[in-house]
Amino acid sequence: TVEVHGVHKWYGAHRVLNGVDLTVRPGEVTVVLGPSGSGKSTLLRVVNHLEKPETGHVSLDGEPIGVRRQGTRFRELSERAILAQRSRIGFVFQNFNLFPHLTVLDNVAAAPVATGRLPKPEALQLARDLLGRVGLADRAAAYPRQLSGGQQQRVAIARALALRPGVILFDEPTSALDPELVGEVLSVIKDLATSGTTLVIVTHEIGFAREIADRVVFMDGGRIVEQGPPAEVLDRPRHARTRDFLSKVL
Ligand code: ATP
Ligand code: MG
Repeated sequence: TVEVHGVHKWYGAHRVLNGVDLTVRPGEVTVVLGPSGSGKSTLLRVVNHLEKPETGHVSLDGEPIGVRRQGTRFRELSERAILAQRSRIGFVFQNFNLFPHLTVLDNVAAAPVATGRLPKPEALQLARDLLGRVGLADRAAAYPRQLSGGQQQRVAIARALALRPGVILFDEPTSALDPELVGEVLSVIKDLATSGTTLVIVTHEIGFAREIADRVVFMDGGRIVEQGPPAEVLDRPRHARTRDFLSKVL
């Protein structure tokens, strides 16, 4: 379970998250929607402590992320402890962020080896299995630049899976792709969703949200304006701002 508790985040005088509370239960698929600048990426970055909130905190299975309790206050953990926690939270970025100098296979095997989770031969076997799962078993020896954007994003998903994270966060995983490549990436994400992986996905693909989300969260101005099952939020939104947003993207 991922719990976001009362998170506020400022950049200078600019308040980007304005009291966000969110619970994501195991196996749940949460889709986050909202206009540009509403704080969606910042929220994902707070979840794995790439950004530190000014107030509030995030916990994963009851354990605070990036901080530890000291009396009534929270103290920042060491960088090493934060990295260990972060390895339990997968992150898939808009621009893939693969290591350009590593083969596809080594991209996927790198983290389990670097974190000491698996010896190299086992990590390579796991990487082969995961590449098979995203339909890229035959591209293991290629370098990222030799792949299409859709293939690169599928490698990035396999890489995120390699640490067997408790939750995977996706920040607009298809928005950098040519339209004809969007479907292959959505289909891999859909497989993860149906196999019970816990997912939080920021996307503008409303049809996809309707199909796979257990819950849709609509953000505006750094707040969650409304959330609920897709049939409620997408088809019968209660707030004018949600209706206005949906009328622009649908
Ligand atoms: P988009 O749909 O365009 O990706 P978003 O909902 O993901 O938008 P965020 O990227 O979370 O929005 O940004 C929220 C606000 O915070 C924006 O006004 C943005 O300009 C500002 N912001 C984001 N990152 C920083 C930063 N590092 N420094 C200062 N301001 C930032
Ligand atoms: Mg964003």
